[in-house]
Amino acid sequence: MFFKTYSAVIVGITPLLVSVEVDINTRSIKRDMNIVGLPDTAVKESKQRIISAFKNSSIALPDGLITVNLAPSDVKKEGTYLDLAIAFAILGAMKHIPQFESVVLGELGLDGTIRKIKGVLPILLEYSDKGFDFIIPQDNTAEALASKSKFKAFSSLSQAVLSLKTGEYSLKIDQVLTDEPSPQEYDEDFSDIKGHALPKRAFEIAAAGAHNILMVGPPGTGKTMFARRFPTILPEMDEKEVIETSKIYSAVGLLDSSLIRIRPFRSPHHTSSAVAIIGGGSNVKPGEVTLAHNGVLFLDELPEFRRDVLEALREPLEDSVVTVSRAKATHIFPANFQFIAAMNPCPCGYFGDKEIACKCSAFEIKRYWKNISGPILDRIDIQIQVPRVEFEEMRSKSYGETSQQIRERVIKARNIQKKRYAQEFIKLNSKLSHRMIEKYIILSDDAEEILKLYVKKYKLSGRAIDKVLKMAQTIADLNESSIVDVKCISEALQYRLNNLDNDFAF
Ligand SMILES: [Zn+2]
Repeated sequence: MFFKTYSAVIVGITPLLVSVEVDINTRSIKRDMNIVGLPDTAVKESKQRIISAFKNSSIALPDGLITVNLAPSDVKKEGTYLDLAIAFAILGAMKHIPQFESVVLGELGLDGTIRKIKGVLPILLEYSDKGFDFIIPQDNTAEALASKSKFKAFSSLSQAVLSLKTGEYSLKIDQVLTDEPSPQEYDEDFSDIKGHALPKRAFEIAAAGAHNILMVGPPGTGKTMFARRFPTILPEMDEKEVIETSKIYSAVGLLDSSLIRIRPFRSPHHTSSAVAIIGGGSNVKPGEVTLAHNGVLFLDELPEFRRDVLEALREPLEDSVVTVSRAKATHIFPANFQFIAAMNPCPCGYFGDKEIACKCSAFEIKRYWKNISGPILDRIDIQIQVPRVEFEEMRSKSYGETSQQIRERVIKARNIQKKRYAQEFIKLNSKLSHRMIEKYIILSDDAEEILKLYVKKYKLSGRAIDKVLKMAQTIADLNESSIVDVKCISEALQYRLNNLDNDFAF
């Protein structure tokens, strides 16, 4: 008595089709169930859940030896994805249910309920394209609807068995939270921030051209406040981004009842491990850089992060993906995020402060900066100081612009860029290569002159000049100007720490 069905698991964030074969040897005196094909603990536990679920659904297990084979056998199958498929394959081998072609997903509770699993959205998107339909847990219906694939959803084993036997099925849509796009809503707004004209403008530029940004300032000047409000001035995610991000969140079990429509904001603590931030582990999982995909990654107290974490950030900052190499396989995860970092100017926090004296030695300050100089600093276009706000400004009753007002300008500037780069693979100024900079950025003669003087004075590297030009182009786009003039270039030059030596004298 043999039966075969399909299920799927998630490896990293990638779906993998698994075939589930069951053979029942009724002549065996031994009454048992063996699961083969490199199952991990979760799959072994699956045996126990299936036995109990059968009992509590009043389905008798057959006499004899049940052998369950999960293929491909060389992939470690994690999780509880396979319970329902194994149960169905046993029932099929018993001729209890007819042959069917669907991919079956779902965990079984001991009482026979079918429980929600992770990864339904990416699995359905991947395999509906290949002509499959699906049987899924009722609680995963919202994801299934979003995937626009053919599926049947059930909440218990007995309900599913009855439907397969009789062929009767109707989706109880009223029990389902459908995915209705709602307007972007945030609890926080840029108008909450008083004063700080320069950092506010810098954040607008960062949003308009997708530039990374570093804030340097003493504790308590509102650096975190800025970072938290950054997503509120970014354009809403388009459908492609919504699906991309929701697939990742589904794969790691962080998707609730609807798709992710608000840009992610991730702010891991500086004690986080490289695996937590970059991804990895024995059952490989994506890290914070991937959870921040299409959103914002904020690292507060940047120099306090582990050296290996800072080094590993190079790849996602440069290529918008992250490669996680394991013994058996290499995973490439998406990691296209806007990077925001914050730090104190020195270990005690008060170097350069007008009121509180710094207690650090020149050596200590130098060592503090050394951690992030080079690999990271080189990849951050906008570097600004966020000083303490004067008392009068803090007490002022006047509110600044709202996030919505800023966002409108950001969207306008982004549309200009999209049009200009229609023939390229990029959409935004921060992604310009050196070749593209030469092709697209037009400087007025006097802007060229100013840049030349500045480069000479501060000995800017080629990479640093490119960064200034990219920023200046975003400023021109915000000003709706077709060329980069003196105003644009002078403003862009404000958003850099002049090789640190100038602003932080050592
Ligand atoms: Zn200090």
